[in-house]
Amino acid sequence: MVFADRKTVERLRKTYPAGCRIVLDEMDDPYTKIPVGAQATCKGVDDAGDILCAWDMGSSLKVAYGADRCHKVGTEAEAKVTLDWYGKHQPEEDAVCPRCGAVMPGPKGRHALSRWADITVCDQCGTIEALEKAGLTKTLSMMEWTAVKDPQNGGGPWNG
Ligand SMILES: [Zn+2]
Repeated sequence: MVFADRKTVERLRKTYPAGCRIVLDEMDDPYTKIPVGAQATCKGVDDAGDILCAWDMGSSLKVAYGADRCHKVGTEAEAKVTLDWYGKHQPEEDAVCPRCGAVMPGPKGRHALSRWADITVCDQCGTIEALEKAGLTKTLSMMEWTAVKDPQNGGGPWNG
């Protein structure tokens, strides 16, 4: 087993704040059922430098320092996987728009289904997305959506 020194642990904590979304690159465990490319919500970094994870598929295996490899969600395709996942767990009432962060009052079904990911967005964002889809305005990167951007930068887990 390899342990990270304190400086490395501090650097890892800055890189992987609790709530950020990570993608598995390699797990040095022949028995693991977590496939490369699977995503997790980071729960923090422990004193040994291991990254604590809540995998979307329902495991809590750590990404072990010096043995396993992962990276933060960083592409449109990866952000879409995160948003699709959040979409499955959106509250039915008074959900928060994952795109702009505004509260969407009342039942979720009253608001707009995103054209870019399988998730509900507020009516205003729905209108903007329609313009994006029609090519009338530049499409906002999904990496810039509040639900993706804030947790990536230490804003804590996205609760929708
Ligand atoms: Zn919105």
